Amino acid sequence: MKLDRILPFAKVLLKKAIHVGDVAVDATLGNGYDTAFLAELVGDTGKVYGFDVQEQAIESSKERLMQQNLLKRVTLFHSGHEHLASFIPISDHGKVTGAVFNLGYLPGSDKRIVTRPETTIAAISQLLEIMASEGIIVLVIYHGHDGGATERDALLKYCRGLDQRYAQVLQYQFINQQHNPPFIVAIEKK
Ligand code: SAM
Repeated sequence: MKLDRILPFAKVLLKKAIHVGDVAVDATLGNGYDTAFLAELVGDTGKVYGFDVQEQAIESSKERLMQQNLLKRVTLFHSGHEHLASFIPISDHGKVTGAVFNLGYLPGSDKRIVTRPETTIAAISQLLEIMASEGIIVLVIYHGHDGGATERDALLKYCRGLDQRYAQVLQYQFINQQHNPPFIVAIEKK
């Protein structure tokens, strides 16, 4: 298949936005796969801030980053992303060029711990405030689980309502696949 699948396309967008020396955010650490990818992109001179509400996610991400010798580029916060603006140092506000949210639940863990519309939207809105111009937020939206459709609908409503003079929003989705596959919404701050 020539068309990028969803997760590879998320990486294409993040690569466009994030360069060596930049500041990036992983809003949903999980097992740290995306965090490690962001840490590679920012290089030795950049920084990644990562958030998760589960201790298990912090530990698993730390382990992965240590194994890949990337931990020193990353600051991990055991906190909801809805507090991100207060955790990211003021000196880095205005410097965030890319962020990723992998929504839903952490595979293999408690399926009741899911991202939620109010907190996801609060985090996006804070990110838009503290991002650099042309910074990109990539949302990978899973919507097959309990609560997933509600979060999807709230996010689409919020994103469609963003003023186009302030941000441009892209939706990338396969529309003839079964079983609610994930899709991408990407927001570029102008
Ligand atoms: N990107 C991850 C990876 O590479 O493994 C997978 C992320 S998983 C689909 C979603 C994660 O979001 C879970 O680890 C969950 O604990 C976390 N989460 C749920 N609510 C959150 C919140 N308010 N702030 C930050 N993380 C949250």
